Amino acid sequence: MKLSLIVPCYNEAQAIPFLYEEIDKVIKQISCECELLFVDDGSKDNTLMVLKELAQKDSRVIYLSFSRNFGKEAAMYAGLCNATGDYIAVMDADMQDPPSLLPQMLDILQTEEYDCVATRRQDREGEPPIRSWFAKKFYAIINKISDADIVDGARDFRLMKRDMVDAIVAMSEYNRFSKGIFGWVGFKTHWLSYKNVERIAGETKWNFWKLTKYAIDGIINFSQVPLSIASWMGILMTITAFAMLIFVVVRKLLFGDPVDGWASTICVILFVGGVQTFCTGVAGQYLGKIYLESKHRPHYIISQTNGAHVEKVKRSH
Ligand code: UDP
Ligand code: MG
Repeated sequence: MKLSLIVPCYNEAQAIPFLYEEIDKVIKQISCECELLFVDDGSKDNTLMVLKELAQKDSRVIYLSFSRNFGKEAAMYAGLCNATGDYIAVMDADMQDPPSLLPQMLDILQTEEYDCVATRRQDREGEPPIRSWFAKKFYAIINKISDADIVDGARDFRLMKRDMVDAIVAMSEYNRFSKGIFGWVGFKTHWLSYKNVERIAGETKWNFWKLTKYAIDGIINFSQVPLSIASWMGILMTITAFAMLIFVVVRKLLFGDPVDGWASTICVILFVGGVQTFCTGVAGQYLGKIYLESKHRPHYIISQTNGAHVEKVKRSH
């Protein structure tokens, strides 16, 4: 039995030594064959140096270093594509995903009929209330309008069996939203809750604007409902316009053609213009995704690695 641990790292030079030590301790407990895949996502600090040093003294460490920052989604995908274990885990570099949970997770997969053990935060303690409110709303909306089951508070930290990872790797779409992909592939998932942990060193790469973009991307990647809303709005406005047309014609026939109604005309023009622009924007968002998908650009480009069989450029098909 072999265990693969995937760690996406972006400017994590400070956190990696702590994580490595902790992982090393945990692996000793479960005593199994293991590989540690650290994906350096184009870090601007010493991350790659730290990883190279680790790789020199520990042959279980494999580093994949991207030619630039491709984002966490690409980094996780690179890890999943190149992991060779029977059990595969993804975890953050900042110790917010405690490695000490691994033995318990492995035990669940080995003794019970599950394909995956996923984790979620029990609470959102220490987070600004406004951010929590938006997060809650996001999960409520996306679960209503998409067919992927996306759990509130779910982290990307999870341990999966080979079959599930093969399914995820087979989903080679360029626009990746892992929280959706994990849910979309299905398989039996056991949820573990744990208390939110603060990051051990360095700083978060997410601000409010980035999170908002991430949320909109998630919805567009996993739901066609915004497109339906746009069409329904079109239908509704056509019906309204038709009713108004009848009203105007009847009024003209009954009362002649009094010259007023400038204000209402302007209101209608502005309203229709607004709705049309909004709908074009929604369609444009999807078009943009199709444009990127249709180019089949690589998910990532690896410039340096010590892995023997690593595919350096991963094309999306
Ligand atoms: N990360 C990455 N590429 C990026 C941004 C983040 O690989 O462009 C990694 C980062 O190094 C960390 C994980 O993704 O291991 C989660 O990032 P972070 O801790 O900043 O997010 P948070 O926990 O605050 O949501
Ligand atoms: Mg973090």
